[in-house]
Amino acid sequence: MLISIIFPVYNEKDNLNELYERVTEVVDAIKDYRFELIFVDDCSQDESSDILKDLHLKDKRVKVFRFARNSGSHAAVACGLHHCQGDAVSVLAADLQDPPSIMTKLIEEWQKGVNLVWAVRLEREGERASTNFFSKVYYAIMNRFTNVKMPPKGADVFLADRAVIDAFKKVPEKNSSLFMTLAWLGFKQSSVGYVKEARHQGESKWTLTKKIKLAVDSLLSFSDIPIRYMSIVGFFIAILGFLYALVVFGAFLMGTPVEGWASLMVVILVIGGVQMMMLGVLGEYLWRTYDESRRRPMYVLEYVLENNTITEAVSR
Ligand code: UDP
Ligand code: MG
Repeated sequence: MLISIIFPVYNEKDNLNELYERVTEVVDAIKDYRFELIFVDDCSQDESSDILKDLHLKDKRVKVFRFARNSGSHAAVACGLHHCQGDAVSVLAADLQDPPSIMTKLIEEWQKGVNLVWAVRLEREGERASTNFFSKVYYAIMNRFTNVKMPPKGADVFLADRAVIDAFKKVPEKNSSLFMTLAWLGFKQSSVGYVKEARHQGESKWTLTKKIKLAVDSLLSFSDIPIRYMSIVGFFIAILGFLYALVVFGAFLMGTPVEGWASLMVVILVIGGVQMMMLGVLGEYLWRTYDESRRRPMYVLEYVLENNTITEAVSR
């Protein structure tokens, strides 16, 4: 049986050789399976692509898919899932934050007969407090407001078998979270724990803007609350408006009519603000519908390195 491991790579020149050493040490010790190492180079601007070419020449298990433009780690993992040949597939970050030794644990758990095994973070080393906080809030919101249950502390690593991979290939959605899509597919899932280590070298590429985009994508993709609650909010504002009208009318009957300017401004600003927010929510949905309907590919491949041959410019 063959197991594929996907590595999303973006400017990781100082980590790749160390990663290769540590991964091969682990997989060489697992005798019952063959391995395929898929490096998806997300259009790195440093020497990562040269290092990957060398690794490919040295080891025929190494395959390289290079993107023509930077498309983010979820697109890179999706590319690996679309092209892997293994009976099962796993993902490890190229910065060595996920220790390659968890492969052994994941495989053991998979052999018990589950389709999808999550590696759940028990602890995170060397991470900023803000990152940990953001991550907690993200998983709490997703578990509360969407119909997909994720491990509450979050998972960046998983092992999925062929059934899950084939089901995933049928999901064409782009503006979504890959991990939540996998969890949403169903199948038998379970988890094992691990300690997420500090980055080996270099900096994290997840900016605050990217994190916010992922959070909004995940919420809109798997929850109908934002769009359905718009009408409820509208309904309550209408009731408030009606009650306020009674107050104004009552004051008029009592001989103390409500003065104009201040009260009018408050009402206009509040209602205007709420309307703008609603338009924003609609806009988010509309933009996503438009983006999906354009049917641009999730990623564009510049070349593929496989079995000592290079195939150029193939897109999915
Ligand atoms: N990555 C990628 N494309 C990007 C950003 C990151 O393929 O645009 C890769 C990166 O090389 C690493 C993994 O995705 O292997 C996780 O990225 P990073 O370490 O920056 O994120 P964090 O660990 O902070 O979540
Ligand atoms: Mg990282």
